[in-house]
Amino acid sequence: MSASTIRSWVIGNWKMNPVQADAQQLIQNLKQLLQHGPIAEQDCQLGIAPVSIALLPVREQLEDAAVKVVTVAQDVSRFPATGAYTGEISADLLKDSSIQFVLIGHSERREFFGDGPAVVADKIKHALAAGLTVIYCVGESLEQRESGLAEQVVLQQICDVASVVKQEQWSNVMIAYEPIWAIGTGKTASPQDAQSMHAKIREGLQQIAIQAGNSAILYGGSVKPENAVELAACPDINGALVGGASLNAESFYQIAQAFAKTK
Ligand code: PEP
Repeated sequence: MSASTIRSWVIGNWKMNPVQADAQQLIQNLKQLLQHGPIAEQDCQLGIAPVSIALLPVREQLEDAAVKVVTVAQDVSRFPATGAYTGEISADLLKDSSIQFVLIGHSERREFFGDGPAVVADKIKHALAAGLTVIYCVGESLEQRESGLAEQVVLQQICDVASVVKQEQWSNVMIAYEPIWAIGTGKTASPQDAQSMHAKIREGLQQIAIQAGNSAILYGGSVKPENAVELAACPDINGALVGGASLNAESFYQIAQAFAKTK
């Protein structure tokens, strides 16, 4: 499969936003945009990652959208099944609620909640075992980039989890390359820098397993309508993980359109 035949994805990461009424309005606005200008699933698939308390209401509200928009959990427990883990939601419980997708390893989880390599690997292992699709987030800090360590750091993050992914499970893994210095800062990696890192990630994945080389690699970090077309034009950028701009239906829709048209 060549990079250009990999399906595009645009996923909105709402982080710890917004309040219920605004979330409902946001979905309503997005549904209206999709009603008037549907984005075909084969051109670009869409996902929304709301706070955990909103996963089920958002999933229900999206059920009658003109095109399929999947609901994505922002995180998952490192423990499987059910048990005495107060505050946690396991992959099996997500699956039980028909939530099929999950972000793992977001830099905010790594920074504020101690999600190191072992925790992230456990989460991926259990999510895949439960049959979920994982969007695995990787990315370097500004300091690491300025020290020339960006590639090494990102490829190490991929290697950290490679041993828990069985060959046949790679079809359920996407990678989101999110340079930490570009998240929520308004700074975006240049399309050239992003493409170059995506190509390295693709190479690294191909070395791990043939199937891994077919994984979609999304870019994240201040993606907005103004930069989406250029990013979408890069051969190894198969979509976007969108934070801030996903809180505005029109912006999110325009980003999705950019990927749908360009890919
Ligand atoms: C993110 O949180 O995954 C993200 C990319 O955020 P933003 O688009 O706001 O930089």
